[in-house]
Amino acid sequence: MQLFHTIQDIRQYVADKRAAGRRIGFVPTMGYLHAGHLSLVERGKREADIVIMSIFVNPLQFGPNEDLDQYPRDLERDLQLAETVGVDAVFAPSVREMYPHQQLTFINTELLTDNLCGASRPGHFRGVTTVVGKLFNIVQPDKAFFGQKDAQQVRVIQQMVADLNMPVAVIGCPIVREADGLAMSSRNVYLSPEERRQALILNQSLTEAQKLFEQGERSADVLTDYVSRRIQLAPFAKIDYVKLVDLQTLSDIREISGESLLAVAVRFGGTRLIDNIVLQP
Ligand code: AMP
Repeated sequence: MQLFHTIQDIRQYVADKRAAGRRIGFVPTMGYLHAGHLSLVERGKREADIVIMSIFVNPLQFGPNEDLDQYPRDLERDLQLAETVGVDAVFAPSVREMYPHQQLTFINTELLTDNLCGASRPGHFRGVTTVVGKLFNIVQPDKAFFGQKDAQQVRVIQQMVADLNMPVAVIGCPIVREADGLAMSSRNVYLSPEERRQALILNQSLTEAQKLFEQGERSADVLTDYVSRRIQLAPFAKIDYVKLVDLQTLSDIREISGESLLAVAVRFGGTRLIDNIVLQP
């Protein structure tokens, strides 16, 4: 596995692979890898010849009061894990390498970023789309792999790629969970044992809502009220949102008639967790 820190070096690596006719798969991450990230690599290995992973904690997507400084980082450990699943090259640039001077150009995807995490985290998706756009220009992948855990992110990036005619296929991959159902996240390490125990309510309540849906419930109010009430039973949980939205537009719906996303964001102490489930009539 090769490690690159500069744009020039990764560009050269990609140019050589492309000249040899290799299809490039790309997995962008912020590091502190877990099995969720590794599942994206495994999918990439099946669908491309070369898998490049980026590890970059992108300051642009963190708000002023968010956890940029506390975000967990361990490049050595990440490199070992990346190697075990067959990553071919890691691109781990510094902030200076990615933002050598004040960035004045941004990618902004409208409407899709107004709801859900976009509403709670102003500027977050502008930071995500801008850095992913930069990374796509640097790595020039044929396919890029993103986790459905960040369902809004997948949708926004698919829209960006379509709107800006970027020559990359964006592939959404299933959420990987711990054995007890908690969606894997680099932020789970912040949870105290008690917070972690209570956080199981996210997946549990979503799964129960799915059962109600399968039994015929179609009302957004009924389903979101159910999930909210279940989560509120966890004493440490502070709900940011519980929403049922159309999977394409990400805007609120009243009744489920097409593919829909039931999504939650909940704080446990200083840790904000998200989870979701797709409901398909
Ligand atoms: P992050 O490092 O949190 O920015 O995540 C990098 C990529 O891994 C994103 O596409 C995430 O959606 C994806 N990812 C994070 N957690 C999971 C998970 N539990 N299952 C599947 N994909 C995930």
